[in-house]
Amino acid sequence: MSNPTKYIFITGGVTSSLGKGIIAASLAKLLQARGFTVTIQKLDPYINVDPGTLNPYEHGECYVTDDGAETDLDLGHYERFLNVPTSKANNVTTGRIYQSVIEKERKGEFLGKTVQVIPHITDEIKSRIKQLGKTGQFEYVITEIGGTVGDIESLPYIEAVRQLRWELEGNCAVIHLTLLPYLSTTGELKTKPTQHSVKLLLEHGVQPDILVCRTEHPVNKDIRKKLALFCNVAQESVIEAIDASTIYEVPILMEKEKLDVMVLKKLGIDATEAPKLDNWKNFLEKFHNPKTEVRIGLIGKYVELKDSYKSISEAFIHAGAVNDCKVIVDWIHSESLTEENIDEKFSSLKGILVAPGFGNRGIDGKLIAIKYARENKLPFLGICLGMQCTVIEFARNVLGLKDAHSREMNPATNSPVIDLLENQKSISHMGGTMRLGAYACEIEAGTLAHSIYKTDRISERHRHRYEFNNEYKKQFTDAGMVLSGVNPEGGLVEIVELPDHPFFIGVQFHPEYKSTVENPHPLFISFVEAALKK
Ligand code: GLN
Repeated sequence: MSNPTKYIFITGGVTSSLGKGIIAASLAKLLQARGFTVTIQKLDPYINVDPGTLNPYEHGECYVTDDGAETDLDLGHYERFLNVPTSKANNVTTGRIYQSVIEKERKGEFLGKTVQVIPHITDEIKSRIKQLGKTGQFEYVITEIGGTVGDIESLPYIEAVRQLRWELEGNCAVIHLTLLPYLSTTGELKTKPTQHSVKLLLEHGVQPDILVCRTEHPVNKDIRKKLALFCNVAQESVIEAIDASTIYEVPILMEKEKLDVMVLKKLGIDATEAPKLDNWKNFLEKFHNPKTEVRIGLIGKYVELKDSYKSISEAFIHAGAVNDCKVIVDWIHSESLTEENIDEKFSSLKGILVAPGFGNRGIDGKLIAIKYARENKLPFLGICLGMQCTVIEFARNVLGLKDAHSREMNPATNSPVIDLLENQKSISHMGGTMRLGAYACEIEAGTLAHSIYKTDRISERHRHRYEFNNEYKKQFTDAGMVLSGVNPEGGLVEIVELPDHPFFIGVQFHPEYKSTVENPHPLFISFVEAALKK
């Protein structure tokens, strides 16, 4: 690659949760659709080394990359939009930055110097940003700075952006995402919070090149003019980001507003041709015009916060479009399910998915749900803990092992059908120590899994400490459960299924992490198809 990598920074102002991740992913999509290679990085200002130790209620789903990083859920959006895998380097937290600076200090690498936020922390931040450019794989690196300008914890990141603007000269652009609140009493969009948040950025030495304004109402010319005047940006660089019916519409809205053209202009690149978005638009066409609907229950214990299962609900959207239908997800709290109410709760469902999770809370409800799906031939997909519960339910109700359990929930069980992975037994630290990332799985011919994947060997992503206990293999297979996918290195059971059922499958891995708009996941496609047939 002859041209230097271009760096685009996205900061946020006024409030959090404005959707910087979606704006970053949409811009990346538009650049990709112009033939450029792009990656997106998220810098998170919190002190956890990674989000793997966070409760989903705190921060939503923990996303997992092929190389085994536990990351912010925005990386899921990046992959779903770009259809290009991310890696460890795409998500960096303050905890990680400090950890490596302190490690270097302990090794004596700073040669007696006082170690300080500037330059040592900011240097580490800058090197993490430039690391993606140095791989030579990307012409554009888009870096999303988590948090809101003005937060104490994001200051070193803003300072790093200020320094990089000098170092990178013309190869750098800054986009500031803000909110234009609407006052219904006067019927106006207000610009003052945006003016103030740009002033705050300026105090830290960063002049944004482009303003992206989240709004519930169209932004008229006068408002654009006013924002341009007060914030030192060109009027055409004031971009409206109006509420969209789906996140997948945002690239199209950003194309109309010429966000990509303005970014390229700032970077001195001609943008004569239009981005090629045919596949994307085909998907949207199908998404907006479903021929039918299908209702699927998602059984989990974090259902109050839908972000906890972000990748699963997005995978249903992708698979729905392939099947020309709208998947309506019924969010069902596993703690709310009992033998008494299950008939009524499941009466309108055409399929159920039992979600991943940790710990004992809600387990009984999951087992009741799986028993119902097995006995009533309701299409069923169990993911990770959902697969482990499938094994427990079968052990208890078919094999007659009444106290069968996972050692995670009951270490004293006499029938540990799910047990701790051997190499987990010596582990004491919780952070980053699960079986993480992509592992191979060999699929047996003639099984449901094989008819779904249509191949003998797959690679899927993992995040777990427990596994199917192979000492029970014979008992399970004798009773009719098919262990259709196995990891070739260790013999770990990756997929279980029941043949005398229209669709009953549990997977130890997380197919949801790999479903993208352009590459919807085969397991979800087949599951939705089975639900439609029910
Ligand atoms: N708690 C289970 C384990 O650690 C399942 C994890 C998950 O569902 N991601 O093995």
